[in-house]
Amino acid sequence: MKRKTQLIHGGIAGDQHTGAVSVPIYQVSTYKQEEVGKHKGYEYSRTGNPTRHALEELIKDLEGGEAGFAFGSGMAAVTAVMMLFNSGDHVILTDDVYGGTYRVITKVLNRIGIEATFVDTSDVTNIEKEIKENTKALYIETPTNPLLKITDISEAAQVAKKHDLVTIVDNTFSTPYWQNPIEQGADIVLHSATKYLGGHSDVVAGLAVVNSKELAEELHFIQNSTGGILGPQDSWLLMRGMKTLGIRMEEHEANTKKIVDYLSNHPAVQKIYYPGLENHPNHAVAKQQGRGFGGMVSFDVGSEEQANKLLTTVKYFTLAESLGAVESLISLPAKMTHASIPADRRRELGITDGLVRISVGLEDVEDLIEDLSNGLK
Ligand SMILES: *Cc1c(COP(=O)(O)O)cnc(C)c1O
Repeated sequence: MKRKTQLIHGGIAGDQHTGAVSVPIYQVSTYKQEEVGKHKGYEYSRTGNPTRHALEELIKDLEGGEAGFAFGSGMAAVTAVMMLFNSGDHVILTDDVYGGTYRVITKVLNRIGIEATFVDTSDVTNIEKEIKENTKALYIETPTNPLLKITDISEAAQVAKKHDLVTIVDNTFSTPYWQNPIEQGADIVLHSATKYLGGHSDVVAGLAVVNSKELAEELHFIQNSTGGILGPQDSWLLMRGMKTLGIRMEEHEANTKKIVDYLSNHPAVQKIYYPGLENHPNHAVAKQQGRGFGGMVSFDVGSEEQANKLLTTVKYFTLAESLGAVESLISLPAKMTHASIPADRRRELGITDGLVRISVGLEDVEDLIEDLSNGLK
C-alpha cells in the first residue's frame, strides 16, 4: 500500500458489522460481559475503546510500528512515554524541544527524580559526551520548533543503541507522510496530533507508536494506569482529518516553497530558517531522511517592534499558537509558544524577539505572499 492509500485504508477502515465506510463513534464507557471475564475484547473505555483502537491501529500502520496509543493531548503522550522511566534515570533531549516538553521535563518530571540534559542533537557527537551511567533514553525532536534544526535520526539512534538507550522521536513537524523514524532506528515516535494530523484546528490529541511488544505492553499499562486517553469523538475527528494528510502535506509544501523564495529575497528579512533551503546547515540530512521539508518557516525581522507590525498587519495569517492546520498561522515564539523558556535560555538558543514563525496553510499562495508583503512594508 502506498502512503496516500494507507491514510484511507490503513488501520481499521469502516465498520464490518454495518458496512459503514467510516469508523463509528463508540460513545460508550463500559461493555457487557457474557460471564465474568468473557467479553468481545473491550471491558472499559479507559483500557480500550473501538473508535480509539481504530485510530491507534492507523497511526501504528503509518509509522510502521508494533502498537499505537492515543492520548488527550500531545503533552499527555509525551508524559506517558516519560513514565516508562524511573526515579534516578537520566534522559538526553534536543535542546530546542517544544516549550511544553521542556516544561514538563524540567518542572514536573524532575520532581519525581527523572534527570535531563539538553544538547544540540543536530550535531550527533554532542550526544555521546552526555551519556552517563544512568542514561536511559535519547529524546529527539526533528525538525525543531521554531529554528527548524535537523537531527540525523539514524546516526543518533545508532549512538543510542550502542549504549542501550531508548530512542524517542517527536515527529510532529514532519508527520508520518514525510518521515518515519522507526524505519531509521527509533524505538518510540510521538505526535502532537493537534497539528498536521488533525489539520483543521479543531482537535487536541497526542499519539505514540512503539516498535516492540515489550514497549507496547509497558506503554499500554501506563496509558491504562494514568488514564490520559483520547475520547471516541476526538478519535473519530482525528481519523477524519488524517485521511487527507497526504494531499494537505503536498500542498502545504508547495505553498511554503514559494513563500520561502519570496522571503529569501526580501530586504526586511534578516535570516530565514527552512530545511528545504540549500544553505540550511542540515539540508543534506533533511533531504535524505525525509520525503519533504514541511510547511513551517521561521524568519528574523530584526526586532520585536518590526515583528509586531507584521503580526498585526497580516489578515490571512492568523495570529495564534499552534501549527499545521488548513489556515495559515503566524506567531512570535519568544512571547508565545516559547515564553515558558527563560529569556537567557531563549537567547542562547537563538530565539530572538524578532523571530517570526509561520505555519503555511492551504490558501492561494498569491494571497499569502501579498499578505506578507503588506506586513513587511
Ligand atoms: C504542540 C506540540 C506538542 C504538544 O502537543 P499538544 O497537543 O499541544 O499537547 C509537542 N511537540 C511538538 C513538536 C508540538 O508542536
